[in-house]
Amino acid sequence: MITLKEALTKNREELELLKSEMETKAKEGDLNAYIDFASAGEGVPILIKDNIQVKGWSVTSGSEILQGYVAPYSATVIENLQAKGFSAFGRANMDEFAMGSTTESSFYGVTKNPYGENRVPGGSSGGSAAAVAGGIAIAALGSDTGGSIRQPAAYCGCVGMKPTYGRVSRFGLASYASSLDQIGPITQNVEDAAILYDAIASYDTKDSTSSDLPLESVVEKLDANRKLTIAVVDNYIAEASYEIQEAYANSVKLLEEAGHTVVHKTMTNTKYDIATYYIVATAEAATNLARYDGIRYGKRIEGVNLEETYRNTRAQFGDEVKRRVMLGNFVLSAGYYDAYYVKAQKVRHLITDEFNKIFDEADLILSPVAPTVAPKIGSTHDPLEMYKSDMYTIGVNLAGLPAISLPVAKNSEGMPIGLQLIGKAFNEQAVFDGALSLERAVNYIK
Ligand code: GLN
Repeated sequence: MITLKEALTKNREELELLKSEMETKAKEGDLNAYIDFASAGEGVPILIKDNIQVKGWSVTSGSEILQGYVAPYSATVIENLQAKGFSAFGRANMDEFAMGSTTESSFYGVTKNPYGENRVPGGSSGGSAAAVAGGIAIAALGSDTGGSIRQPAAYCGCVGMKPTYGRVSRFGLASYASSLDQIGPITQNVEDAAILYDAIASYDTKDSTSSDLPLESVVEKLDANRKLTIAVVDNYIAEASYEIQEAYANSVKLLEEAGHTVVHKTMTNTKYDIATYYIVATAEAATNLARYDGIRYGKRIEGVNLEETYRNTRAQFGDEVKRRVMLGNFVLSAGYYDAYYVKAQKVRHLITDEFNKIFDEADLILSPVAPTVAPKIGSTHDPLEMYKSDMYTIGVNLAGLPAISLPVAKNSEGMPIGLQLIGKAFNEQAVFDGALSLERAVNYIK
């Protein structure tokens, strides 16, 4: 597949041809990365995760409950894309309401990882990553609440970037956990991610958490030769598989050889990441998903009275969504609110402070993305085990930081290994510069 940069040089007819080729190839294959092939506008086609609204398109967040719902307006990211020569093409499969790490909780069935057909593509943006890695999308948008862009990118051997919280408008994104969600690019390489990030980032008065700090193009200043100080967190990587630790050590060596300064740090509050995230995220999810009551959105299943209508309708949620709605309501309930929710908010500050302390002395932190490579389809039975696999990604969302995941190696089975570079809030430039340097140094071969 041509890169996003190359695609920007193509004319209208060439792009139309490319779209029909992608559609044919996707239909012939069995990745199940696309939910449909809707097309909106002209310009370089970007695959859109099924929780981002495109006016006139179905948008279902991978859920049964939103079947039949048509977006009444476009998300700000879609308007930004269209204003800059891109178009929306196709809806990408995802875990239901972006809750998951494997894309197995989708109403549309699991997406396959192009690197191994019995492997999950990761999640929740599994459709976006599998399509980009499988050569049936030039680039895609995903959303990242606790790793859902970076982890599928790592599992599928492509690049995924989560912007600083507030950099990219959430207007028109189906909310999962509003204080954590960010939309970002999934692409074939770092430069394409920078191009797509530039296209979607903006200050937006329609999103009250959008930042009005000055915004500059990262592509214009992209510099692989810039020397950066990169922190490695030695005590933090021990829980990753041996092969991931090896890939990490090799990347540290390559970064040093490329002239970056490597500093050694420890992080101790990371042990609270999972508990904190699964309190904050479920509390916000329970609140956000209360709107799906059969009255306002999607599919209604009538009962004899209003309460039964609510019950029947909400019974369409899948198990993982139900689990989180219950957990979220529990941690917000009188009597438990202080013990869980308020405490989690306090710990969230401690986690953020620990990152910021490292950033007093470093531009970037190098970290694994996930403790293992993509697991086999059907092998993740225990939800707690799945939550644990988010250990390296969710701290970044709790602290609102930018981070990029890129492939650095393959394990002995040929499955991709990704690492992430985490940056200071609003310093996307350093994140992209460091990633470009690492990408060149590792020279990952698909
Ligand atoms: N796996 C995490 C979760 O299930 C992250 C998902 C995401 O980033 N949307 O919540």
